[in-house]
Amino acid sequence: MRRTVYNEDHEAFRDTLRSFIEAEVVPVYDEWLAAGQAPREFYYKLGELGIFGIEVPEEFGGAGEESFKYQAIISEECARAGVSFGGSGVHVALCLPYLKAYATEDQKKRWLPDFVTGTTMYAIAMTEPGTGSDLAGMKTTAKLSADGSHYVLNGAKTFITGGVHADRVIVCARTAAPTPEDRRFGISLFVVDTTSEGYAVGRKLDKLGLRTSDTAELSFTDVKVPVEDLLGEENKGFAYLGQNLPQERLGIAVGAYAQAAAAIRFAKEYVQDRTVFGKTVASFQNTKFELAACQAEVDAAEAVCDRALEAHDAGELSAAEAASAKLFCTEVASRVIDRCLQLHGGYGYMNEYPIARLYADNRVNRIYGGTSEVMKMIIAKNMGL
Ligand SMILES: Cc1cc2nc3c(=O)[nH]c(=O)nc-3n(C[C@H](O)[C@H](O)[C@H](O)COP(=O)(O)OP(=O)(O)OC[C@H]3O[C@@H](n4cnc5c(N)ncnc54)[C@H](O)[C@@H]3O)c2cc1C
Repeated sequence: MRRTVYNEDHEAFRDTLRSFIEAEVVPVYDEWLAAGQAPREFYYKLGELGIFGIEVPEEFGGAGEESFKYQAIISEECARAGVSFGGSGVHVALCLPYLKAYATEDQKKRWLPDFVTGTTMYAIAMTEPGTGSDLAGMKTTAKLSADGSHYVLNGAKTFITGGVHADRVIVCARTAAPTPEDRRFGISLFVVDTTSEGYAVGRKLDKLGLRTSDTAELSFTDVKVPVEDLLGEENKGFAYLGQNLPQERLGIAVGAYAQAAAAIRFAKEYVQDRTVFGKTVASFQNTKFELAACQAEVDAAEAVCDRALEAHDAGELSAAEAASAKLFCTEVASRVIDRCLQLHGGYGYMNEYPIARLYADNRVNRIYGGTSEVMKMIIAKNMGL
């Protein structure tokens, strides 16, 4: 089936991006893997290419696009090449929507131009050592000072993607206790300068996959956050998270679909080349059936992603629909990538083969951005259950 979700401008962007990845990422990717992160300088290159500014309004140095489809193309092209842009995915796909929706004009003037160039990299810190799925249970606090000039931030976050390189982090913290009627009340968002006194980056975490993204622990000890860096209104942070998580989940769905599609391509190339018992692996009926079954699943995931992308661009993607897309596409990707790895035999288990990296990288898609179980809770609630 012909995909209708992308137009000529999108495809031109895809061509540019594909060449950029081939020239600037593929040749050095093994070095990034060995280092455990993409180098900071690479983010300036992404800034120069205009990747960070696509959805930023023109007055702040961006291209002023409103469509999320460009982010989807980035996911698709990275998966196709078996690489990633390190921790920078969160800078645009996760952080920008918050800055666009809730920053004041003054804050946008202060923050967005350097966001576009990559001079200031952003991350977002929701998860804490004691709470992930149940975000309302967060313990990090931000208390307004007596003179009302700043908040005093105390607490700790973990699993923060981009946490090592970040220059500013959107930190979720409690500014008031939950009320008996609403345990989600009292959370606020702050755009914290990572050079502030008392702000510390802990361990860069050693992960199963996504080995070029810097995922870190953060801690805050009496960090003074100027009131000018409160994002949106005090105590309404949970609602802001609720409004932005559907885009994050759509992004994960598209990434998972793209990884599954790439897995089929890698497996197809491999089985046509590998000879066993005097025949290519591709010639066994089992191989054909396995790849055919995978293709059917990926076709379905593609249709889900494309519909969700259109709905999101039209401002119509609901939280439950985004959860459904994430649940479906990430579960499909896990099955497909596993079957494609199997067709590689032992070589599929070797990190030098892209299928092994895909296998490890994909696993987290069912966990972050909300686990599959949390997605089911959202969908069930929407069903009135
Ligand atoms: C590589 C990576 C990058 C990440 N990046 C970020 C980031 O940039 N910023 C950020 O804030 N966070 C980030 N996270 C955190 C991520 O969003 C959380 O790990 C995720 O939301 C799950 O939370 P948890 O790890 O505390 O698991 P838990 O909440 O402890 O869940 C444990 C298990 O219990 C299940 N469970 C929980 N509640 C229920 C329920 N009510 N019913 C049934 N089952 C339930 C879960 O599904 C899971 O299987 C990242 C995580 C990883 C692994």
